[in-house]
Amino acid sequence: MTLIRNTKSIAIGDGTVTVNGWVQDIRNLGGISFLTLRDRFGTVQVTMPKKKIDPETFVMLTTISRESAVSITAEVKESNQTALGLELIPINAEIISEAAVPLPMGVIDKVNVEMDTRLNHRFMDIRKPEITAIFELKSIMLGLISEACRENGFVQVSTPKINSSGAEGGATLFKVDYFGREAYLAQSPQLYKQILMSTGLDRVFEISPAFRAENSNTNRHVTEFVSFDGEMAWISSEEEVMSMIEKIMDFILKGIKEKGSEQLGILGKSVNVPAVPYPRLSYEECLSIVREGGLDLKDGDDLGTEGEKIIGEHMSSEGFDLYFICGYPEDAKPFYIMEKDGTSYSHSFDLDYKGQEISSGGQREHRIDRLISRIEKKGLDPKDFEFYLEAFRYGMPSHGGWGIGTERLLVKMIDLPNIREAILFPRDVSRLSP
Ligand code: ATP
Ligand code: MG
Repeated sequence: MTLIRNTKSIAIGDGTVTVNGWVQDIRNLGGISFLTLRDRFGTVQVTMPKKKIDPETFVMLTTISRESAVSITAEVKESNQTALGLELIPINAEIISEAAVPLPMGVIDKVNVEMDTRLNHRFMDIRKPEITAIFELKSIMLGLISEACRENGFVQVSTPKINSSGAEGGATLFKVDYFGREAYLAQSPQLYKQILMSTGLDRVFEISPAFRAENSNTNRHVTEFVSFDGEMAWISSEEEVMSMIEKIMDFILKGIKEKGSEQLGILGKSVNVPAVPYPRLSYEECLSIVREGGLDLKDGDDLGTEGEKIIGEHMSSEGFDLYFICGYPEDAKPFYIMEKDGTSYSHSFDLDYKGQEISSGGQREHRIDRLISRIEKKGLDPKDFEFYLEAFRYGMPSHGGWGIGTERLLVKMIDLPNIREAILFPRDVSRLSP
């Protein structure tokens, strides 16, 4: 009987197996030829002593182009020459789909290929084990996020991505022609997860795409990212939200170490699990760290990329990868954030990871009069938000929440150089395909 095996599951004693994969490499050495067959899990050596192989199969497997998709049926033999301790001696083979020559880019060649070339031919790029490993880790991470949220009583929700108004400021809204009406792609699920706080679904989370018309080319912005949002009701301060994030982050980091150990091994990375609670820095403390670092910021200024970096270096020197920055000026935060009475600050926080913001959150303004004042203060028209405001008129609990960019989280977790490395098919100012 022929067993269907992958490169990880083949074992001595299997007898005859069929393995599907790509032809990574062929070496013809006169009387003997070697083919390296690769699948998602690794590679296996196919050994072909010319005289012992069916002639048609021999010709097929020694002349086929690299990266062709093949199915090889073979005898499993013990070998002390290979990493797996075994080799395959082909009986017959089928070409499932032949690869054209030349390849748009190499899979195993140790040459540095530009990121643009890699992204232009992303299907081929992802065949590299170290790229596959990134997306397997991302999948594990998303699973852990859901698991952590469910364990803490959060209900997973999906909110609309085509909307009549945005929540995060007009500058990054993508306009859509909606049957002749103006609509926008969701920048975040903010308004809807807040509406849900008035429904009885008092802890919700969502993992979904968010769209931002970011007209700049940075290594941490894309125009479409996957946002992990949470919102919880009946809180007495944003501190409860921060504690929840800590719990969830701790669960994710510990989980990745355990469930992603194989992928981390392929990438040669390790994940540090910082102790909880994470330090809480006030906005004012951050201003003085940034000023000491040589950046001249005024009270009220956004800390900015440069400021975040300086704070990151400072915190790293004290042994902290993850830390909260609390109490931003209300002016720097969106309308839905609660102001700190009698000050110009707000009940907001960011979670920064190794010198970069990965999350913003806070306590929300649940009192309708104050909420309307804040909308007006931001130069927006409350009429455009009536669908949202209505939920605040009939018994809205106090509430707060967060948004975490999942790609930024992964980037910092495994130290990737660019957010695009954590997205299969990234979208940015200049990239709309593949
Ligand atoms: P930044 O100041 O870094 O541009 P932001 O403060 O505008 O971020 P928020 O509105 O606070 O972003 O969004 C919450 C989280 O979503 C961010 O902390 C980040 O992790 C992620 N995020 C926001 N914009 C982007 C983007 N363009 N690309 C990737 N992730 C993003
Ligand atoms: Mg933010």
